[in-house]
Amino acid sequence: MPLPELTEDCSRCAGLCCVAYPFEAHEDFGLLKAADTPCPNLAPDFRCNIHDDLSKCGFGGCVAYSCAGAGQRVTQELFDGETWQDDPDLMTHMTYALRVVRPVHEALLVLLEAAALPLPQALQERCAKLTRSLCPEAPSSIWDFEEDEVQEALAEVPEFVESIAPFAQG
Ligand code: SF4
Repeated sequence: MPLPELTEDCSRCAGLCCVAYPFEAHEDFGLLKAADTPCPNLAPDFRCNIHDDLSKCGFGGCVAYSCAGAGQRVTQELFDGETWQDDPDLMTHMTYALRVVRPVHEALLVLLEAAALPLPQALQERCAKLTRSLCPEAPSSIWDFEEDEVQEALAEVPEFVESIAPFAQG
């Protein structure tokens, strides 16, 4: 079963992380903004105007952030490369999709690491089953990620991670 790309590729994303999430006072961002609002540093070509100076400008949160590949997947696979700049009505649909897909990709990264551990067979099988459940076949809309199978597997991952902790430490 092929895994999706789990590393961000901003060149194929519509700047979704720079739009979707709010910047709050206790976080490491140089300004406050609401969710579903483009960051003022986001350029029309979806590049960051202060990319080389993020930390210096107080945007350490952007340096630390990764969408785990969810941004380009939402843009290219679920929205066929369209962007909220082409059609502003797409903005909230795209940002919602990012907020749904990103946790799935983060969980897949965790399971990928788990699969490399010397786990007993039962845990290996559970890891593989959770991974399969988080990879809906040929997803074409966000609904495919909101199916019970995906969301139930996502909810199980924290408990699975606890169960493998002794092997990770070993
Ligand atoms: S500062 Fe740059 S990387 Fe951070 S949210 Fe704004 S545009 Fe995106």
